[in-house]
Amino acid sequence: MKARSPEAGSYDTIVVGGGIAGLTSAAYLSRAGRKVLLVEKNKECGGLVNTFTHNGFRFDAGVRALEDAGIIFPMLQDLGIPLEVVKSPVSIGLEKEILHVTDRESLHDYRDMLARAYPESTQEIDAVIAVIRKIMKYMDVLYGVENPVFKDVKRDREFVMKQLLPWLPKFLFTVRKINRLSKPVEDSLQKIIQNRSLRDIISQHFFRGTPTFFALSYFSLYLDYFYPKGGVGQLAHVLAEKIRAEGGEIRTERTVTDVFAEDRRIQDDHGSTSAYDTLIWAADLKTLYQRIHTGGLSRREQDRMTRVKNSMLKGRGSESVFSLFLEVDAPLEIFREIAHGHFFYTPSKRGLRETHHEHLQQLLRTWEKADREQVFSWLDAFTEYNTYEISIPGLRYPDMTPPGKTGLVVSLLAEYDLFARVRQAGWLEEFTAGLEGRIVRVLSNSIFPMLKDAIIEQFSFSPLSIENRIGSSEGAIVGWSFAEPVPVINKIQHAGRAVLTHIPGVFQAGQWAYSPGGVPMSILTGKLAADRVLRKK
Ligand SMILES: Cc1cc2nc3c(=O)[nH]c(=O)nc-3n(C[C@H](O)[C@H](O)[C@H](O)COP(=O)(O)OP(=O)(O)OC[C@H]3O[C@@H](n4cnc5c(N)ncnc54)[C@H](O)[C@@H]3O)c2cc1C
Repeated sequence: MKARSPEAGSYDTIVVGGGIAGLTSAAYLSRAGRKVLLVEKNKECGGLVNTFTHNGFRFDAGVRALEDAGIIFPMLQDLGIPLEVVKSPVSIGLEKEILHVTDRESLHDYRDMLARAYPESTQEIDAVIAVIRKIMKYMDVLYGVENPVFKDVKRDREFVMKQLLPWLPKFLFTVRKINRLSKPVEDSLQKIIQNRSLRDIISQHFFRGTPTFFALSYFSLYLDYFYPKGGVGQLAHVLAEKIRAEGGEIRTERTVTDVFAEDRRIQDDHGSTSAYDTLIWAADLKTLYQRIHTGGLSRREQDRMTRVKNSMLKGRGSESVFSLFLEVDAPLEIFREIAHGHFFYTPSKRGLRETHHEHLQQLLRTWEKADREQVFSWLDAFTEYNTYEISIPGLRYPDMTPPGKTGLVVSLLAEYDLFARVRQAGWLEEFTAGLEGRIVRVLSNSIFPMLKDAIIEQFSFSPLSIENRIGSSEGAIVGWSFAEPVPVINKIQHAGRAVLTHIPGVFQAGQWAYSPGGVPMSILTGKLAADRVLRKK
């Protein structure tokens, strides 16, 4: 190994990307006494776990609430980080009916709500509820103990004897069952339910091709959501503080532009270079493979890397999201009477049917001939029949919003290619305004009639904003698309290997390293990557 000079910026480990995965890796490594540098492109760390203030309203820019999944609280406890949180209850709405999810029995109410909307399909509804119930049992096992990755299994005999060992056989049995539920949720529902609208209402707020287990486990996850005081970004904030307290260095507003594999050096957009013994790449993997220089590596290493690079570059990021931020001159109480602070709302039981996919693909295929009117007419259907994820941070913590006012974040799954085409054609502003206006109209005509006359200010983030800010291919929000072959590990029993790369000294972590991604898996891979680095030493 080459001699390292501290003046030149030399580190035991450099972590690229200060999202929740990179923060986790850096926190563990700095706690272990390693000399760590975390490099983050933005002014603030957190990536898709981020909260910001605008006109006194606090909003979550990325994920709206957190699921423990047996991972987040054990990680915080293991690192000795206190975090004040509340439960973040969920409501589900269909047309005029609103269901507040309070406990497992709420599944009955969900069943009844669907049966009232689709009385001709009650048998099919019962069949799908039975599958959801089965998956809830699998989830109980999966998250049945605190994730052992965050426990000191060598010393904590009580945990090992009383919890881990009795749980392991159940876990392995359940993993086999889960792996059998990896088919796309649309295909599984098609086997059970004939009514297209009903299928859509159950599944249209998931990414296309989402594995059945992942999609239908959401009823369990609704019960698991919590919210940190001050917003989800607090989780990133406390991790960053921990890194600094342990002597780790965080360099923000620096984008890593080059990785020199043989020299074990990175270079950033300010032209500074830093050397590493090990590197954890906790950002978009397509970017890594585009920016790595392999000169000097052996032919075998280069061949392997080229194979991986090709499959990564062929892969596609997941669907993205369009988020509308509304600052409203109406008190929280009015909204509290309607729904909880985390609300999945579908204004029409008709369902999206072909709108989001076939019609959109058709529009994109014939883009040269399409006029704006056609695009806006597609937007009419897209906004009317869709399912909205609505977050009202002030309903979790009142100080998230100025007195007497309410902040809302309303989001829809959105296709990156559409926004890219519109931008290329030069009318992104008009398109965005049209989309924002339609969302406000649909919600004002359905669940929030007070909305249209009370908006003080509004703005939005599109898939293009996510690509630009986070450096996420196709504006992806959970890593790889489920609709294409996934070029990374996607079986939970192999998660330990998800952090390995073929590049000497380089590990990977985060939503691009394991599929399906999300906050808990990003944290888990962040920890696994740190463990590998420590073991390597
Ligand atoms: C609206 C929305 C809702 C969501 N809902 C959920 C949910 O309900 N449940 C769930 O589990 N997950 C959800 N997610 C997904 C979840 O937020 C992400 O999967 C997770 O936060 C990813 O963390 P990460 O650290 O892997 O990646 P990121 O958060 O993408 O972090 C990567 C970081 O690397 C930085 N970076 C990129 N390139 C470079 C570079 N070249 N140099 C330096 N820095 C770089 C970026 O700025 C970023 O900070 C949601 C996301 C969104 C946006």
